[in-house]
Amino acid sequence: MYEPSNTPAPAVKRILFLFSDTGGGHRAAAEAIIAALRQRYGAAVQCEMVDVFRDYAPSPFKYAPEVYPVWVNRGRLMWTLSYHMSNRRGQPAAMTFMVRSIWRKFRRGLSRLFEDHPSDLIVSVHPLFNSLAMASLRRLPQRPPFITVVTDLVSTHAFWYNRHVERILVPTQPAVDRGLKLGINPDRLRVTGLPVHPDFANSLIGKAEAREKLAWDAQLPAILLVGGGAGMGPLFRIARRINALALPCQLVIVAGRNEKLKSKLDKVKWNQPTQIYGFVTNMPELMAASDILVTKAGPGTISEACMAGLPLIISDHIPGQEYGNVKYIIAHKAGVYARGPRRVARVINKWLHEPADRLKERGENAKKLAMPNAVWDIADELWQWCQKPPVDQPQKQRSETVTRRRFRRFGIRTPRRTTQGK
Ligand code: UDP
Repeated sequence: MYEPSNTPAPAVKRILFLFSDTGGGHRAAAEAIIAALRQRYGAAVQCEMVDVFRDYAPSPFKYAPEVYPVWVNRGRLMWTLSYHMSNRRGQPAAMTFMVRSIWRKFRRGLSRLFEDHPSDLIVSVHPLFNSLAMASLRRLPQRPPFITVVTDLVSTHAFWYNRHVERILVPTQPAVDRGLKLGINPDRLRVTGLPVHPDFANSLIGKAEAREKLAWDAQLPAILLVGGGAGMGPLFRIARRINALALPCQLVIVAGRNEKLKSKLDKVKWNQPTQIYGFVTNMPELMAASDILVTKAGPGTISEACMAGLPLIISDHIPGQEYGNVKYIIAHKAGVYARGPRRVARVINKWLHEPADRLKERGENAKKLAMPNAVWDIADELWQWCQKPPVDQPQKQRSETVTRRRFRRFGIRTPRRTTQGK
């Protein structure tokens, strides 16, 4: 006969991930952590991902996922300027003003977000949501613990570091040093590595097997070209340059979500065996089957290449957040920086004519940088945090704001807000 158990079923823990599709790395990191949590804690954990820009930001910010690749590709100077102007502890007055104006626009959306998605733990994998979300949450008497998982490798923007969040999990020691410089309490920082999907390591089969599966040439060295999830950078021109050399190799080009690039590539007459893919979901197989990776300095792709032991040619980097990645790869002799199509083609030509040991050595150096346990360490830490009670926030009388003080100086009295959280 069935007898109901007296012990109550363990409560399901809910984790809310804040991300946005500005590039492919933030989504990839969140999905990797969620997969690890599911594999380790099964149905005891329930995860939700919210694209904050797309679902809760007002216009024009809601179009950030569409605007980001265009801005980074075509408006480099503007991107570089805004990155560096905002990347410091005490920001210039103009930047502070801008951030405050943005916060006012986001406030209502963020309150709605946290009402729509109650959770036991909030995890941000995007630099722009840490301070905005904390500003919103800190107005409440209680809030869930908040953890930031930094998805830039080395040169991490100041927006990643909010001193009120419970933990900041970073990929490398330079990212810890940056946090310390910005005044973050050392107890809140931890080096875990960058989360790579648990299936990635499992799917890293042998080269011969991977090539057979993919129907690539079994003998020719394979050069894999990737431009992040959005197919960014001068991939087309790089491919054409390599093609012009008609080298004894095979080319594999991943255009990602860039459909225009894919259709342009499809029309080229190739001088060597060439495979062209759109957005792929079998990157581990592609990396396992390849000998050299040509990529922009995306942290996700770099971390994956390190796990696959692939030597890297970094052909481009997004100014600001990806600059440190280039230095990191060069310093550890895992690859080289060859900006632009002409240099990339020259390096490939050189590497293909070198003794095979040299390439192997670079691949082994890359492998030393891999942190395959990162995703598990992060999942375990999140699991521990979602067992903790909500954080109490004593609501102190808010001090006079700078704006109100300035108005008062000119004899203008502004009404004081009395309702909390609105
Ligand atoms: N990626 C993928 N399929 C593709 C192209 C890229 O799954 O067709 C993945 C890639 O494996 C990596 C992520 O997208 O995990 C790209 O992240 P990265 O940080 O390198 O660049 P971002 O796109 O964020 O600029």
